[in-house]
Amino acid sequence: MQRRALLAEVHAGRIGLAEVCDANPYLLRAAKFHGEPSAVTCPLCRKESLTLVCWVYGDELKHAAGSARNAGELSRMAALFEEFSVFVVEVCRTCGWNHLVQSYVLGTSGVGARRSRRRTAAE
Ligand SMILES: [Zn+2]
Repeated sequence: MQRRALLAEVHAGRIGLAEVCDANPYLLRAAKFHGEPSAVTCPLCRKESLTLVCWVYGDELKHAAGSARNAGELSRMAALFEEFSVFVVEVCRTCGWNHLVQSYVLGTSGVGARRSRRRTAAE
C-alpha cells in the first residue's frame, strides 16, 4: 500500500496503529547500528525524525543477503558484486513505524557503469 494512503487509513482509524508499527527488534536494532538519520519527521508520532535503513538482497551476496548496510558499505559492495538489490526502509525508533520508501539495483553491471565488465583488470 502507498505510504500516503496507508497513513490516511491510520488517521481515519480504519487501520490500527499496531498493524503499521510492527518494526521487530531486529529492524530497530538495524536502525540503531546501520541507519542513516533523515530530515523527515515520523508521520505517525511526530516525535522524532525517521531513520533510513538499507537492506541488501541478491544471490551473489550469500550470507550477507538480507542484512542491513550503511552508505559506505553499499558503495564498497557496489564495486565488488555484479548486481544486488537495495531496499530502503524508513523506521521510527520511537513508535515503530516502518515503510519501504525506495528500492534500486547496485553493482558493477548496473546501468550507471558504462565500462564493459569483460575487460577490467587487463587492458
Ligand atoms: Zn514515530
